[in-house]
Amino acid sequence: MSAKGTGGPKLTPMLAQYLEIKRQHPEALLLFRMGDFYETFFDDAEVLARVANVTLTSRDRKSEHPVPLAGVPHHALDTYLHRLLEAGLTVAICDQVEDPAQAKGLVKREVTQVISPGTATAPELVAGAAGHYCLAYLPGAGPENGWALLDASTGEFRCGQEEVTLASLCERHPVREVVVAETLPDERIARWRAVLPEVVLNRIGANWFHPSFAENTLCEHFGTRTLDPFGLGPQTDRELAVGAAGAVLRYLCSLNLARPGQVTSLAFTDRGDRLLLDEETLRNLEVFRTFRGERGEGTLVHHIDATVTPAGRRLLERRLAEPLTDLERLGRWHRAVEGAVRDRPWRQTVRGALGRIGDLERWSARASSGRLGPAQARRLASSLRAVGEVAALVAAAGREEHPAAAWAEAIPDLGPLAAGLLDRLAENPPAQARAGGVIRDGVDKELDDCRLIARDTRGYLASLQNAERERTGIGSLKIGFNKVFGYFFEVTNKHLDKVPAEYVQKQTLVNAARFHTDELKEAEIRILDAEERGAELEASLYAELQARVAGALPEIREAAARVAAIDLAFAFAELAEQRNYCRPECDDSLALDIVGGRHPVVECLLDSDFIPNEIRLDCERRQILLLTGPNMGGKSTYLRQAALITLMAQAGGFVPAESARIGIADRIFTRVGASDNVARGMSTFFAEMSETARILHQMTRRSLVILDEIGRGTSTYDGLSLAWAITEFLHADEGPRPRTIFATHYHELTNLAEQLPRLANIRLGIKEWEGRIIFMHTIQPGRSDKSYGIHVARLAGIPEPVLERAAVLLDSLVSDDERARESRSRTPAGFSLAADEAGASAQLSLFTDDERDALAALRELDLDRISPVDAFMWLVRIRRQLDRD
Ligand code: ATP
Repeated sequence: MSAKGTGGPKLTPMLAQYLEIKRQHPEALLLFRMGDFYETFFDDAEVLARVANVTLTSRDRKSEHPVPLAGVPHHALDTYLHRLLEAGLTVAICDQVEDPAQAKGLVKREVTQVISPGTATAPELVAGAAGHYCLAYLPGAGPENGWALLDASTGEFRCGQEEVTLASLCERHPVREVVVAETLPDERIARWRAVLPEVVLNRIGANWFHPSFAENTLCEHFGTRTLDPFGLGPQTDRELAVGAAGAVLRYLCSLNLARPGQVTSLAFTDRGDRLLLDEETLRNLEVFRTFRGERGEGTLVHHIDATVTPAGRRLLERRLAEPLTDLERLGRWHRAVEGAVRDRPWRQTVRGALGRIGDLERWSARASSGRLGPAQARRLASSLRAVGEVAALVAAAGREEHPAAAWAEAIPDLGPLAAGLLDRLAENPPAQARAGGVIRDGVDKELDDCRLIARDTRGYLASLQNAERERTGIGSLKIGFNKVFGYFFEVTNKHLDKVPAEYVQKQTLVNAARFHTDELKEAEIRILDAEERGAELEASLYAELQARVAGALPEIREAAARVAAIDLAFAFAELAEQRNYCRPECDDSLALDIVGGRHPVVECLLDSDFIPNEIRLDCERRQILLLTGPNMGGKSTYLRQAALITLMAQAGGFVPAESARIGIADRIFTRVGASDNVARGMSTFFAEMSETARILHQMTRRSLVILDEIGRGTSTYDGLSLAWAITEFLHADEGPRPRTIFATHYHELTNLAEQLPRLANIRLGIKEWEGRIIFMHTIQPGRSDKSYGIHVARLAGIPEPVLERAAVLLDSLVSDDERARESRSRTPAGFSLAADEAGASAQLSLFTDDERDALAALRELDLDRISPVDAFMWLVRIRRQLDRD
């Protein structure tokens, strides 16, 4: 900072105070309260001006060293905070902690809050209903890494230890900020920053991640002696998870400047409990983001979200990121959804009541830090009432009939808390507590008295004004108030001669003068005293209400979790009815048997009808489906549909199909298209192969493997050989034999069906009509022998001459290829692996007929017998012939 250097600006006491506070928060942009503004100086001023788009000026402009200055009005703080956090900055808010009027000398100031992008709690600062996580990531020495997710706005806190990348975690969860140990190498951090541009990555003290330090942090926070209650005791060997959890909590404490009371428990997420979806799979299936990286339209979560509460929406996100594998639990979910599908009126009534429940988790978390606004407190109270209604409505259905009824029965009774709040809070309380008018009349006798005195005295002032007008004969005399002079009589200049002698002049204006009297002073003191005392009483009554909410935090959270489950089950039911979804039958078989399956997103986006298709896979007989078909035939849609139906079923919902039997999957792997990994410094082909390698290493018998065009990014014959060998590996009797669907344009692969008994060829049907093709989008048994790429290119608008030339080339390539095959012996595998030869043949067909004839003649030449002279003559002849052409 420029002020530190010699020859810098002369420091006023206020600037010295600023610099001292800034020194304690070097990482943060310091917003320094001065009067009605939050000001920034020096480098921070430049950052604020740029990011928040406010004017950059300077203090002491005329001096040799003007100090850069930029500020924002205090009442608009939230708007500017939002912009600063969006830009990835951490902000320290420094307030005046004593009344400037009472201060002797410099006003005392302290940092009251530090907010980083991932630890914001104010509803205005966290985006919508989605989760808002700060993630700590602790790479381990082996394949496992530790992670912990903390949502400071709701208090949700969980951790895990598994083979997972940082990018996967960020794809799976709405992570806003990542913290890692400062000792990690710079290159690694730079690589993460490149692949995760949306996430803010901060480095924090490495010792915070140390298992014993982290254990202390956690035990101290939760008031426990060990981490056993959280399933994280030393015998569990979950040190990486503990390290990450301790670090993120420590980080939050360091920002919060206080114990984060909203964090009341820590859950360990066991990888065995859920269907694992890696980053590529979530991307390929467009679960949370489209291929282009956009959220919203086109993503699964967007098109199947029918929840009506924020907690329900967050649960849906979590379910899609971590679908279930426990059959019993899934069974309960599917029965709950079915119950809600069957009884439509009941469902609608319950959803109506659910719609009156706001963000319980976020509001109650705010109360724990004393930051819940009165208007939000009132909404929290009405929401708690609605929770009671939902609980009663759902429980009435009986737990025998509906599993949701059991969830509802377990909702704690928060009626008394709601009533307590609603009885005490004013009907329409203000957003901020300091505005007053928070507590109803009749709640506190002393507060009522204060209000009465203030009201009466104001009434008395009105009568005093009339009396004084009459007494002095000044008809325009009026009583006014300002913060500096308090109450006064104002008399225009015209009537100054009529002012009585006991009036004491306080202020002179252009057209008038202001006076006070002893009587007025007394009234003023009465009003101000009453108001001050009233404000004090109101503040303490309101603090007591917030404390009540904070005290009930575990119950509120429990209620919110159960309400979220009910909301999600009912939302799944609503969707099932609207879109004609069916209840999936999940079991421990190794089958995937779907009749009339549809793609849940494509069917919403199509103008025309979606053509349903069956998917029949089974480890014993039909383990691999080899899918061929024309470009645009619907191969990718079909593949994804299989994965998405499985995912939706294991998320607890119904699925877009007529019927679906799903043998629980432990992982879904997808290798779809050539994804662009340039940002990760990988070639497209390398990325494709490393993803495939991972699948081949990690797949199990319970996995579902979806492969779309393996080997695309290299030469045809390299790619074909790899695809061939990979298919054999997937099929190998001694291997895990996962259920697999493999779409390909290598039609040669379909020959594999003759050798691999568990491989079945399927294709997407088309009709040729008047030289054009019509995509049927129907799955049929058998193989397809053409890709119709040129037809699709025509549809896409490639110019006609290009298409005609391509058709000629295609014909010659095909006939050359056939000729080459005939002249070579077939390998046992069924296709020619003489890649170089075949490649050469493909090259040749790009020559003219004469050139080809010349080459054919060259091939036929018997080099062992020809003399040098004859060879030369032969060359001359050929050359002449070519030159003539
Ligand atoms: P390519 O080989 O060129 O990648 P593809 O065979 O994978 O093509 P898709 O991308 O799956 O084809 O599908 C192309 C389009 O066809 C989709 O965008 C969709 O509009 C439509 N489509 C696919 N399946 C169906 C279906 N079952 N019913 C109706 N329309 C479908």
